[in-house]
Amino acid sequence: MNIIAITNQKGGVGKTTTAVNLSAYLGDLGKSVLLIDSDTQGNATSGLGVSRKSINFSLYDILVNPSKINDVIISTEFKNLKLIPSSYALSKLDADFSDTQKPEYKLKNALKCISEENLPDYVIIDCPPSINLLTINALVCSDYIIVPIQCEYYALEGLSQLVNSVMQIKKLHNNSLEILGILFTMYSKRLKLTMQVENEVKRCLKNKVFSTTIPRTVRLSEAPSFGKPILYFDKSSCGAKSYLDLTKEILNKCEDRFIKV
Ligand code: ATP
Ligand code: MG
Repeated sequence: MNIIAITNQKGGVGKTTTAVNLSAYLGDLGKSVLLIDSDTQGNATSGLGVSRKSINFSLYDILVNPSKINDVIISTEFKNLKLIPSSYALSKLDADFSDTQKPEYKLKNALKCISEENLPDYVIIDCPPSINLLTINALVCSDYIIVPIQCEYYALEGLSQLVNSVMQIKKLHNNSLEILGILFTMYSKRLKLTMQVENEVKRCLKNKVFSTTIPRTVRLSEAPSFGKPILYFDKSSCGAKSYLDLTKEILNKCEDRFIKV
């Protein structure tokens, strides 16, 4: 099982779009996938066409009681793709857990309780736009993080902050945590600023930048309102092709690791 958190404390950079579309393509390519919506906004849940009104349990129930995980996992209409949905209750998590011991290990403990039939090849976690208890739970249990960034000036400041937080979590809680890659989203090569930011990120984190970039395209932003990943919405669009390329690049990186071990 490979566990990958999609994270960046900056809002609106393409975390959810990446989590949903990467999950769908991994499933399409034959991997079993569990997508965890770890954001109160619930965009990954609605992006897979699941209405929060229709669900009985959510990630919140798992964090309160990790052994409940198998009751919370739901199937989706998409190939090989299961979901742990989000709920509004997640917003009171920090307050609810203020007296709890080791609250940052709840998700890690829960994933150990997944039954054989639910056990996925890949767990993808869509993180919220802040470094709160939900993000910390995700980073504590993950093997890898993917950091989507938009090529704009403030992206650089945010990136160094994020790298510091990851280092801290690695030191305190999860020695094996690694950055799988930085992903340029809403990418437009024609913009001078894009090139400047790209060069600067590559200078700092050279071998960590994915060679695939995700272009800015309307089709990618339309798909969620139909409750579908791009693969099931417009397979021939350039957005779909770029997420397929990204998925193949990620499979190469992750499955390579097992060959080396
Ligand atoms: P948040 O921090 O609020 O969780 P996020 O990082 O998850 O946001 P998304 O929700 O994936 O970001 O994307 C933000 C907005 O940009 C959404 O409306 C989404 O549809 C749109 N978007 C994402 N990627 C692209 C793209 N490549 N081209 C065009 N629009 C995009
Ligand atoms: Mg999001």
